[in-house]
Amino acid sequence: MMKIRDFLQQDKPALSFEVFPPKTASNFESVKIATEEIAKLKPSFMSVTYGAGGGTSQYTLDIAKNIKELHHVPTLAHLTCVSSTRETVKSKIQAMKEAGIENVMALRGDIPKDMMNDDRSNWHYKYAIELVRELKESGEDFCVGGACYPEIHPESLNQKEDIRRLKEKIDAGCEFLTTQMFFDNNLFYNFMYKIREAGITVPIIPGIMPITNAKQVERAVKLSGSFMPQRFKSLVDRFGSDPAAMKQAGIAYATDQIIDLYANNICNVHVYSMNKPEVAEKIQSNLSDIIGK
Ligand code: FAD
Repeated sequence: MMKIRDFLQQDKPALSFEVFPPKTASNFESVKIATEEIAKLKPSFMSVTYGAGGGTSQYTLDIAKNIKELHHVPTLAHLTCVSSTRETVKSKIQAMKEAGIENVMALRGDIPKDMMNDDRSNWHYKYAIELVRELKESGEDFCVGGACYPEIHPESLNQKEDIRRLKEKIDAGCEFLTTQMFFDNNLFYNFMYKIREAGITVPIIPGIMPITNAKQVERAVKLSGSFMPQRFKSLVDRFGSDPAAMKQAGIAYATDQIIDLYANNICNVHVYSMNKPEVAEKIQSNLSDIIGK
């Protein structure tokens, strides 16, 4: 069973992990080894991100294919569209077919700085929904996922508008959603309530980022605009300058969030453990009896 849509029908607590491809050929081998270590944990699936500039697209496929074929772990290959032409996206979809990719995360991608002031009417893609449609019309039975934002996408005017657009993305064929990271589960539960009320019924996979060093906190907040609860801030203030202690505390915090999500009937939690097998392994072992591994 390699299609994520089938797996998401189960209600057993499970974990999936995210990895990112190498930026250059010189670190391909080290990324391959790290992702294989994570694959050995046999997560429900592994997602492989995609560089918005497109430079790492082949590596996304190579890493995804390797995990799937060598370790029999279902993979989800990310694809972005905003800085691409129709022709490029078409050839990427073809390459996915040829690589035997069954699950695709259809993303818009962040708008590159040098495109910010463009006349957007010339762009081949403006929103992820266009990529969702293209994948669904490609003649291949891709299982297509998309992104969602419990704390609102930064470009959205308000949550109502964001959720309205999200519903359109689902209606276009997006079969499940993975959330942006969040550090306060209540924000996620609130969001779930609102999207269900808006008629979005597809599975939602919460994304949890274990913060394992103080620098990562800044980056995470800048990237996602996530709210940092006081409990989390205190932990960073107290342990941020001690790398080993910070790592342990960050993993414990993420574990806590995950247990609470399972307790609230969430089946699969996606962990942004990035390319750190020791973090993925620690989280999995903290949950061993809960997930039966
Ligand atoms: P969209 O769904 O297109 O939404 C973008 C914004 O446009 C939202 O504000 C939405 O409300 C609005 N909108 C949508 N449709 C319309 C419309 N018709 N008219 C007006 N407004 C509209 N980036 C990468 O480069 N590579 C990755 O691998 C990657 N993986 C990610 C994984 C997850 C789980 C998440 C949450 C994000 C990921 N990103 C990745 C980042 C993502 O590309 C950015 O957050 C990007 O800014 C938005 O992408 P999207 O697919 O959510 O866009």
